[in-house]
Amino acid sequence: MTEKACRNCHMITPGSVCPVCKTSSLSSDWAGYVIILDPANSAIAQKLNISAPGKYALRVR
Ligand SMILES: [Zn+2]
Repeated sequence: MTEKACRNCHMITPGSVCPVCKTSSLSSDWAGYVIILDPANSAIAQKLNISAPGKYALRVR
């Protein structure tokens, strides 16, 4: 299974379109990830500008 990361918001998705920003600008070249359950109370989410719960790549090329 190849998951891809959105170049916009870094959301990792198994599909071909980002479920958050609906873009197909995805990259299979990403490294590391965090799982955000509660964006409003997560310092990591705020640092990465994440507003929806999910799995996010730390680095996307
Ligand atoms: Zn996105």
